Amino acid sequence: MRIDIFTLFPQWFNWFFQQRHLSNAVQAGSLTARLYDYREYTPLRHGQVDDTPCGGGAGMVLRADVVCAALEAVYHTPCDRVRDDARPLFLLSPRGRRLDSGLLNELERLPEFGLLCGRYEGFDERVSEHMVTGEISIGDYVVSGGELPAMVLVDALARRLPGALGSEESAVYESFSEELGGGLEYPHYTKPADFRGWKVPEVLLSGNHAEIEKWRREHQR
Ligand code: SAM
Repeated sequence: MRIDIFTLFPQWFNWFFQQRHLSNAVQAGSLTARLYDYREYTPLRHGQVDDTPCGGGAGMVLRADVVCAALEAVYHTPCDRVRDDARPLFLLSPRGRRLDSGLLNELERLPEFGLLCGRYEGFDERVSEHMVTGEISIGDYVVSGGELPAMVLVDALARRLPGALGSEESAVYESFSEELGGGLEYPHYTKPADFRGWKVPEVLLSGNHAEIEKWRREHQR
């Protein structure tokens, strides 16, 4: 899977892509992530990427011509034709479709897609109208830029990709998975079996796999 991330702060992702499960997925060849800085493609002088909102008001707005120039430079296609079924483009926005495991299932099937990270007041509406396939939100709150939402999305997706996790089972039997009926995972315990009188449920130490499975199903939330 290839994910193209457009951002004003590509350096934010340096630490992120060094994390073990992400670098594992990259090394295993299941994930390719490319970072593109709008500022590098701006046709405006002095690296300008934003401007004041038409009609007045606080803050700055990312310009549509700047986003278009970045898309055209990267994909060599008119920016209103970059989005297509094989390569959707998603704008990260609080008003987008909420990121959940259903949406991740859909994204997981894509060979490639792009993410546009906003900043300031967000994008000129013409980016949304003419250049992207859809908008994705990580929740009903506002963060300062699309970089953290992009990381949340890529992290959640990457842990499903071959080679990312030490044990592939970890991502199969986890909260919201089909294997757990879309529900939450059962509680985990580890050693010591007795810590300050707080005991691990005996069945989990019994070695009786059928009973352990039964206990886990009963304690799934
Ligand atoms: N003016 C916008 C509003 O009131 O909805 C908020 C803009 S926010 C400060 C700047 C950028 O952060 C957005 O363009 C978007 O890319 C990103 N962002 C903020 N909150 C987000 C969320 N909940 N989900 C996805 N992206 C978000």
